[in-house]
Amino acid sequence: MLIDCDAVVRELWDFLDEELSGERIALIEAHVALCERCGPHVVFGRAFKAAVRTARDVAMAPAHLGPRVREALRAQGFSDPR
Ligand SMILES: [Zn+2]
Repeated sequence: MLIDCDAVVRELWDFLDEELSGERIALIEAHVALCERCGPHVVFGRAFKAAVRTARDVAMAPAHLGPRVREALRAQGFSDPR
């Protein structure tokens, strides 16, 4: 392999954020595709980032969703937070 596991782990988050050069990303992708140790790291990292993104999207939901969310909460028996 062209790069070792330590390098992949060290650069994992930059890799997931696509903050590396295209050449570097290609090297890591090639390693991860073949490496049983690093594959799960990437799967976990991607899932983690997706979860963070989802949480952020919910927190920053457009204002017009507010009434619908409150309506849904009321339907579930929660009191109106206003
Ligand atoms: Zn590896």
